Amino acid sequence: MSMVIAAVGSLVMAAQPAGASGYRLEPVPFTSVHVADGFWSPRLETNRVVTIPFAFEQCEATGRLANFDRASGAPGEHEGFFFNDSDVYKVIEGASYSLAIHPDAELEAYLDALVERIAAAQLPDGYLNTYYTLKEPGKRWTNLRVMHELYCAGHLFEAAVAHHQATGKRTLLDVAARFADHIDATFGPGKLGGTPGHQEIEIGLMRLARHTGEKRYAELARYFLESRGRGEGRAEPLYGPYAQDHQPVARQREAVGHAVRAGYQYAAMADAAAYLGMDDYLPALDALWTDVVSSKMYVTGGLGARRSGEAFGDAFELPNDSAYAETCAAIAGALWAHRMALLHADARYADVLERIIYNAFLAGVSLSGDRFFYPNPLACDGHTNFNQGTPDRAPWFACACCPVNVARFIPSIPGYVYATSKDAVFVNLYMGGTAEVRVGGTPASITQQTDYPWDGVIRLTISPERESEFTVMLRFPGWVYDRPVPSDLYRYADEREGVPELRVNNSTTPISLDRGYVPIRRVWRSGDTIELRLPMPVRRVVADERVGPNRGRVALERGPIVYCVEGADNEGRALHLVLPDDAPLSVRPRRDLLGGVVAITAPALLAYYDEATDAIATREHALTAIPYYAWNHRGPNEMAVWIAREAGVVPKPLKPTIASTARASASHTWSSDTVRALNDQAEPKHSNDGAIQRHTWWPRRGSTEWVQYDFPRAATVCAVEVYWFDDTGMGHCRPPRSWRLLYRENGQWKPVEATTPYTAQTDRWNTVEFRAVTTDGLRLEADLQPEFSAGILEWRVR
Ligand SMILES: [Zn+2]
Repeated sequence: MSMVIAAVGSLVMAAQPAGASGYRLEPVPFTSVHVADGFWSPRLETNRVVTIPFAFEQCEATGRLANFDRASGAPGEHEGFFFNDSDVYKVIEGASYSLAIHPDAELEAYLDALVERIAAAQLPDGYLNTYYTLKEPGKRWTNLRVMHELYCAGHLFEAAVAHHQATGKRTLLDVAARFADHIDATFGPGKLGGTPGHQEIEIGLMRLARHTGEKRYAELARYFLESRGRGEGRAEPLYGPYAQDHQPVARQREAVGHAVRAGYQYAAMADAAAYLGMDDYLPALDALWTDVVSSKMYVTGGLGARRSGEAFGDAFELPNDSAYAETCAAIAGALWAHRMALLHADARYADVLERIIYNAFLAGVSLSGDRFFYPNPLACDGHTNFNQGTPDRAPWFACACCPVNVARFIPSIPGYVYATSKDAVFVNLYMGGTAEVRVGGTPASITQQTDYPWDGVIRLTISPERESEFTVMLRFPGWVYDRPVPSDLYRYADEREGVPELRVNNSTTPISLDRGYVPIRRVWRSGDTIELRLPMPVRRVVADERVGPNRGRVALERGPIVYCVEGADNEGRALHLVLPDDAPLSVRPRRDLLGGVVAITAPALLAYYDEATDAIATREHALTAIPYYAWNHRGPNEMAVWIAREAGVVPKPLKPTIASTARASASHTWSSDTVRALNDQAEPKHSNDGAIQRHTWWPRRGSTEWVQYDFPRAATVCAVEVYWFDDTGMGHCRPPRSWRLLYRENGQWKPVEATTPYTAQTDRWNTVEFRAVTTDGLRLEADLQPEFSAGILEWRVR
């Protein structure tokens, strides 16, 4: 397909100021909400002083910013992934929110310079994408399925609106509008047909339309949404369910495919329903929502069960240890839940929003603000490299979507706290601070004082500029009245304790609910107060029986916080803990722990292998649970959200062996694999068993490599068994050409006297017997095949 040269779009903006969204509720923008509390203020500050500068530094160091300079004429090639422009835009969006929260002259000047560099990379016709400009200038818009040009544009539009809102400067907004005009002139009926492989531009265009009043941008978003799942007029075949391109969006009823793409799409559909009156999207949105919250959402609010395709699984397919639950998918889910709340004015959507923010999302960033999770599993053995090649929080990823999404999401959270209708103000989240709202035509300030999420007492002061009648709608969280999620997927297994109380100007007021809110209607005078006291006992949660991995297990929640047990607090163990149903749960405020948390303790049991009796036994253990968001700050270790209720449910603790107690090391291990696989006692089913951990020497080929066991004390050994890895058909690992075994004597490696041959066969144990030696270490040396690498699934010692 030839390059499409579009007419340069005009830069005429509609004269009216920021338009209404068309939603039933209008969100109170982040610029009007000033958070000041013990939980969120430190996080907003960490995001400002650590995460945002750190993300900009990473963007500089990895060539993401230099790409813009090169696209405007500086020497050098394009560096990194073709979608790396989007990371820069996301950090700019976050930095803009942050400026609105906390003026920062240095940051503002940095942004000014950065915007200039971006503007310089924009081509005369408005096109802006450093990859295509530098690498494939004749190929723009030829591979919408894969190449993310429209995705990057969407993030530019979001950043530009945020930058204009925060600074009043039009510099980036003008760049965005020129690019949007170019895309508008390029795509549509009678023009080039297509839709992005990765949704995002739809949200960006809707936002640009609302902000500028230029409805054309919303119509373009509608075009991209309507093209999805429809073949006619498109240059490329449908992308299928992976990219939600299997059915027209209005007909979609089940959440499928890549969870981030899905979340962005559903959020854009809600925008279109509200702003453009796309009523036929409403049944789809409601069905998709029900599908997700009834069968595809983790108790943390995490979305996307499968690593393969970063995708939603089938209904009730919610594994814990292999849960993908990408940080970006949590953010996409939050964007969608917020829009559903605005669409329906029903607290159940804000319940999910809250669950995501405090759990699935917040786990994605460290307390220090510079370490991140990409996937967010709900169980961990402490050594599986679940986080893109590490069992630990990582400073950055080659594909950096998650860290930069964190940088922009944290400072946007104040924008989710309040919303207004014609004569009501909705309080959707509880956090301390002050907001300026306009309700029933009257400006009013609302002050919240609370120690949420650790305490359920919330004091609000309502101060309208003049006496005025309106309704304050207080969200009454589902967790207060036995509805942790708006479905039967999770429910409380215990009895509710305590009674919520409401006082208006110090007089007790009965609580009645309207769509999950407590409506308080009266003539408000400046300084009127509301006090809401929500009891916050620890609750035991159980999952629908159809979620297999959670059968016989319980999770703990308190208020909006989901808890986990981590090895660091539990003698290194989490997977073998047993919490009996009758064990009393105690609340322990711990200022010293993990930035200050409320911990939960309980008398529990620990299952272990008893050497004396050669059997599995349990012993008493004082269990400590911490908020899930705070796990993995004390090095890689075991973690579990779902705790066994009976000893029969825990995986059998394995009998320690000579190999399992040894320290394993290797001449080299591929970053996605682990040398711990050698002695983790996971039994391979075949040589290409992808379900268990492996060690490989990848990408080394044809070389001589080794793995080694250091025993804690000298042992007498006479045989080893090796299960070689082989990924024929998928990769380039094969059993080695030859191998041999050495033992250590007086610090020297010596060959054993083998009495059976060294074999290197697949799909079986390869056993070598030798004359017994007493040694403190064994080394296995392998000569790899010339064209191939090699790996080991398990290495036993007798
Ligand atoms: Zn991500």
